[in-house]
Amino acid sequence: MRPNQWKRFWKLKIPHGARNFWWRVFLCKLPTRLNLRHINDEPPLCQLCQHDIEDDYHMVFDCRRKKSFWLVARNIAHIKVPMEDIWDILNFRTTTDERTMLRNGDILMVIWRSGPR
Ligand SMILES: [Zn+2]
Repeated sequence: MRPNQWKRFWKLKIPHGARNFWWRVFLCKLPTRLNLRHINDEPPLCQLCQHDIEDDYHMVFDCRRKKSFWLVARNIAHIKVPMEDIWDILNFRTTTDERTMLRNGDILMVIWRSGPR
């Protein structure tokens, strides 16, 4: 991330847990099955769907169960950006307004707290 992106991230008024999770998203430091494969003998499959490899994208967004959650949460939170932009927004590859950033932070917090991950 560029310095201005970091600055923007640290200025966001989001709960500590959401910031921690979000920070791990763009540093690729999430405790995914793929990232933890060196301490786990099992195949790095997602614990929710048991179907796909659990990498960062899958854990946060792409698992079909996470995606259906994002769809509902996006509607309830009145997030106007398309679904396909959300992952890029979370990784600061696409910019959007502060309100959308904060709401994405709230949704991340729910995903983080609601496990299993
Ligand atoms: Zn899955």
